[in-house]
Amino acid sequence: MSAAPESFSPSPDTQAYLARQHDLLIGGERVPASSGESIAVYDPATEAQIATVAGAGPEDIDRAVAAARAAFKGDWSTMTAYERARLMLNYADEIERNLPLIAEVEVLENGMPRMISEYTIMKFGAEFLRYYAGWVTKIHGMTIPVSPMDARNGETLTYTKREPVGVVGAIIPWNAPLAMAILKLAPALATGCTIVLKPAELTPLTALLLGELAEKAGIPAGVVNVVPGYGQTAGAALAEHPGVNKISFTGSTAVGKEIIRASAGNLKKVTLELGGKSPFVVFPDANLESVIPGAVRGAFFLQGQNCMASTRLFVHEDVFEPIVDGICQMAGAMQPGPGLDPASMLGPLISGQQRERVLSYIEAGKQTDAELRCGGEALPGKGFFLQPTVFARTKMDMKIAREEIFGPVLCVQAFSDSDSLEDIAAEANDTDYGLSGSVWTRDISVAHKMAALIDSGQVSINCHAAVDPAIPFGGNKQSGWGREFGMEGLEPYLKTKATTVLF
Ligand code: ADP
Repeated sequence: MSAAPESFSPSPDTQAYLARQHDLLIGGERVPASSGESIAVYDPATEAQIATVAGAGPEDIDRAVAAARAAFKGDWSTMTAYERARLMLNYADEIERNLPLIAEVEVLENGMPRMISEYTIMKFGAEFLRYYAGWVTKIHGMTIPVSPMDARNGETLTYTKREPVGVVGAIIPWNAPLAMAILKLAPALATGCTIVLKPAELTPLTALLLGELAEKAGIPAGVVNVVPGYGQTAGAALAEHPGVNKISFTGSTAVGKEIIRASAGNLKKVTLELGGKSPFVVFPDANLESVIPGAVRGAFFLQGQNCMASTRLFVHEDVFEPIVDGICQMAGAMQPGPGLDPASMLGPLISGQQRERVLSYIEAGKQTDAELRCGGEALPGKGFFLQPTVFARTKMDMKIAREEIFGPVLCVQAFSDSDSLEDIAAEANDTDYGLSGSVWTRDISVAHKMAALIDSGQVSINCHAAVDPAIPFGGNKQSGWGREFGMEGLEPYLKTKATTVLF
């Protein structure tokens, strides 16, 4: 197995976009970083530099927060819900119209196969915005019957209003740059908040493009500000900024904890979507024809750089060997290569550093009694490619089974008839995380009992990581705070004001 050496050229539109000067987007203006700092952006499939963007520092974050505050108090707050919904629908149309450009930019900065980028742009870009545009006109408070001591029935009225929390700082990772940005932007826009979006330093281009499309869609200047920058400087400045009312963060659990500490100064609201080590439990009656592709997708989607990845398989002894063999066969057939090549099914890891990190876990796995059944090596040549790797007969006290690797490494553990559902669940839940999980069986009672026992924000039955704009998504334990998606995804962006009148 080796990475396809041939390079696939981006379109002239994409080349022109990449060649531009990429300044910060603040208050509708493109401005250089006040420190003059710039960040080089690389294609992880070729290791070639593809663009340079301005790198925001604390002063730029100040400017962006001020612009977001001004926009929050300006047209955006006086606009009707209908008008806001219409602008969000325009935004979705702009994204759909620019699908080829956005996909190429995302593929080049992230490495994912083009087909996956196009799918996520539609499902978690355009459709996600349309889903939340539908909510804009349905956000309302209620009236509450109350009994103040000095009033009679009919002499008081209490009503609640749902108000936007204000300026939102959105800090996102590099694993799905477009989807991550829209997951934050859509509920913020729907509720009438304004946003300062800090994309990951490795993948800032998709977010800058999205900022421009917001403007093209007619969303007022300053509502969406985009400030690429490093986590320790721009990210930290945003998290601790007294002018920010809420932080919505997706990334590692370690940084999530730093965000909590940084946000304490003004007690800003915080939602966190963090790491995972999700279980995938297979009973012997499961349909192996769907289990095997489900496990390959679950573990190796985005090369395992995905918080919902099913990295721990718990498989009944009776079907253990055919499943492990089937996964290795299917994973081994995935063609690695640059995402613009339509034949590529497996992209590179995001950086050399990330690949080294994953390889160090693989080395740790090789030192255990677990069986390395396939993969385990970096691919030769350019690009940060790594073979999909499967360790069988892992145990929950092994580092590879406990820690989030964020790479294509799957651990498979056996159970037998002597294990009760509670025993299996105890192993599946023996982790600090609780984001996703799945149960595979044709027995409806076992399916629902097991789903109830798994301690995670989301469980799928006979599929893994079912995601849709309408399905609430978020983690238990150290996988995060709060829920995104669906009606519940609006809550963190709203505050309630109760008003009482005594007639
Ligand atoms: P990943 O594992 O995806 O790299 P990180 O948690 O390191 O996850 O990064 C996710 C996002 O958090 C990125 O935009 C990064 O720049 C930002 N970030 C990293 N460190 C900090 C920090 N101390 N404060 C705020 N943001 C940070």
